Amino acid sequence: MAINWTEAQIEQVVASVLKTLGSASGEENRSDWDATQYHGRTFIGVFEDMNDAIDAATAGYKAIRAMSLEEREKVISAIRKLCREEAPIMAKLGVAETKMGRVEHKTAKHILVADKTPGTADIVAQVKTGDYGLTLTEMAPFGVVGSITPSTNPSETVLCNSIGMVAAGNGVVFNPHPNAIATSNYAVDLVNRASASAGGPAVLVASVRKPTLDTAQIMYQHPNIKLLVCTGGPGVVKSVLSSGKKAIGAGAGNPPVIVDDTADVKKAGKDIIDGCSFDNNLPCIAEKEVFAFRNIADELIASMKQNGAYMITHEQADELAKIVLVESKNPKTGIVKKIVSRECVGRDAKVLLGKIGVTVGDEVRCIICETEFEHPFVQNELMMPILPIVRVDNIDQAIELAVKAEHGCRHTAHMHSKNIDNLTRFARAVETTIFVKNAPSYAGIGFGGEGHTTFTIAGPTGEGLTSARSFTRYRRCVLSESFRII
Ligand code: NAD
Repeated sequence: MAINWTEAQIEQVVASVLKTLGSASGEENRSDWDATQYHGRTFIGVFEDMNDAIDAATAGYKAIRAMSLEEREKVISAIRKLCREEAPIMAKLGVAETKMGRVEHKTAKHILVADKTPGTADIVAQVKTGDYGLTLTEMAPFGVVGSITPSTNPSETVLCNSIGMVAAGNGVVFNPHPNAIATSNYAVDLVNRASASAGGPAVLVASVRKPTLDTAQIMYQHPNIKLLVCTGGPGVVKSVLSSGKKAIGAGAGNPPVIVDDTADVKKAGKDIIDGCSFDNNLPCIAEKEVFAFRNIADELIASMKQNGAYMITHEQADELAKIVLVESKNPKTGIVKKIVSRECVGRDAKVLLGKIGVTVGDEVRCIICETEFEHPFVQNELMMPILPIVRVDNIDQAIELAVKAEHGCRHTAHMHSKNIDNLTRFARAVETTIFVKNAPSYAGIGFGGEGHTTFTIAGPTGEGLTSARSFTRYRRCVLSESFRII
């Protein structure tokens, strides 16, 4: 299962598949797709009314319950196969619809989902035997799961959730992000096509044509929905956790990186730019701000520049901050807050630089700048290839500032160091779900790192990197009298 792709291998795979599809540009004609169809093929499992979608997912759940584990695994294999084959289509569609991210990276993310999302093998039973007999604990499905998915990894999250939730025996209904509805519903349709091809129900998972906060509310209140899973920003995670139902919340982060003076600084510079620029910084785990020891900061910046980073001045950073962060007034409280401009999230570094009058070529994949700790680039989760660097004097200051910048999200943090004490101190202090040492951030979700993948990292509710077993409830069966063989 281990994937250790090099950049060259990824490019080769993507180029060959895009060639078969006849386009390598990432362009998609807007008239060829919408929330219900792709090039004239009507999506299966997409409903006008959320109540109908929930009914369909309930029927899907009943069908899964009637299937053996082997049959369920066949459906999952078919989902993996289509996910791999159609990865470039979803990648192109995702970029075209959301205007965010990069086709080659989105393609790689779908292949990662296909290859490293755990299936039914993740579901294991526990047995306890003793004087009184045998007790069996099994991981049972919840029933129908209501899943809210983001715009940043739209089809990746739908597919990853579907594999895990179906492996656990659940039905699923999605309320996808409205800005990524065609891409998300493409993935819903893919799961249903895979199901039908492998002997499963025609509608295994469901979604709606026009997801809104109202359709999410129907989901929250419907008696058939037994578990809510939310992948998104703080607002939506809070809303599911206030629903009164069992909920899994995968929320925002602001991953800091510390580079100390024992690190392989050259490699650290490359790793950080590779991670930070991956899919234009959309992954919630991606490097968002760097705390570099003063005595290696110049060398680190030089390595970043050699690896596709473009350095802007403090004045240019302030000018860019006024464009990428905009004021938003809460209609209820009247409080004005800075939020990220949706026009800038996930855009190419070249496009963002163009907004301050700097023209660069495609070789620039990340913007770097030196700032103070208080700078909005450090304090806000931008989800753009913009990386502020703060110089620090020592490990105490680095840890103190990095922990503050993470804002208690307990999501992800990174460190480049060969000093075990420093690594251990930061990991303990920051208490994140994911902590990556000496690698690009994506190693934390199994891309060039050991372990399974997920696009739903549940820090707030504690499931961590979710997998099939996260979507189960434990049930116990006690067999009295001896049933031991010893
Ligand atoms: P978002 O928060 O804008 O929206 C997520 C979904 O929630 C959308 O479907 C949206 O319409 C819906 N929504 C928003 N408010 C709602 C409410 N009050 N009730 C019901 N539904 C509501 O997400 P986005 O901008 O696409 O994603 C980016 C955010 O998600 C970032 O903060 C990122 O860190 C986080 N994220 C986290 C993970 C993780 O695994 N922890 C993964 C991906 C993204």
